[in-house]
Amino acid sequence: MSIAQAIKELKNELPSTVKLVAVSKFHPSELIREAYDAGQRIFGESRPQELYKKTGELPSDIEWHFIGHLQTNKLKFVLPYVSLIHSVDSKRLLYEISRYAGSHNLSVRVLLEVHIATEQTKQGFSKEELFELLDEISRQTLPGVKICGLMGMASFVDDKVQIRGEFETLASLFSQIKEKYGDSLAYFTELSMGMSEDYPVAVECGSTMVRIGTRIFGARTY
Ligand SMILES: *Cc1c(COP(=O)(O)O)cnc(C)c1O
Repeated sequence: MSIAQAIKELKNELPSTVKLVAVSKFHPSELIREAYDAGQRIFGESRPQELYKKTGELPSDIEWHFIGHLQTNKLKFVLPYVSLIHSVDSKRLLYEISRYAGSHNLSVRVLLEVHIATEQTKQGFSKEELFELLDEISRQTLPGVKICGLMGMASFVDDKVQIRGEFETLASLFSQIKEKYGDSLAYFTELSMGMSEDYPVAVECGSTMVRIGTRIFGARTY
């Protein structure tokens, strides 16, 4: 299937309330251009230098999202160019983003990444860490940062029941947080969950943003 065809099918399939992030990591700019010409405007990248390079090669009305693990010494390749960071996975990173944004006069939209999978390798806050952090930031102002929601990745398994359970856990955290901190989190609206293999389940569980790579661009060659 062509890239254009895959995008068209996904757009038809996804409810209008769910945003499609085309995950273009490891794929060349020519393929991103094909997706762009098919009408896609939101792209997700996971490596700072790769993102930085592509922003220079592609149209300026692309909305870039950063979805990978972000090291604090790479902020300059990412923060000025993205409209959303999905993968804030530590308190230290959040505070460094705030510091950078404050000193560069930026307003950075971020999602907090939650560890919902059984695999230890995946990043993200535990539920306890998440509430501890939200308690802390609700007592102060965090300049330069807008906390816009949560992101999570389900376990890499075939068991759809397990995957559904993990997405439901994340969706329930999302509503608990809105209820408890709604007054201090004015921008908290996005729930980023669902990838090529599990996005239909994620959408059923309340996802507002799916991150899809392989289904659009084919397999990645590393
Ligand atoms: C690579 C990646 C995706 C896309 O995965 P596919 O299975 O190719 O759709 C989504 N989210 C994150 C965080 C990723 O790193």
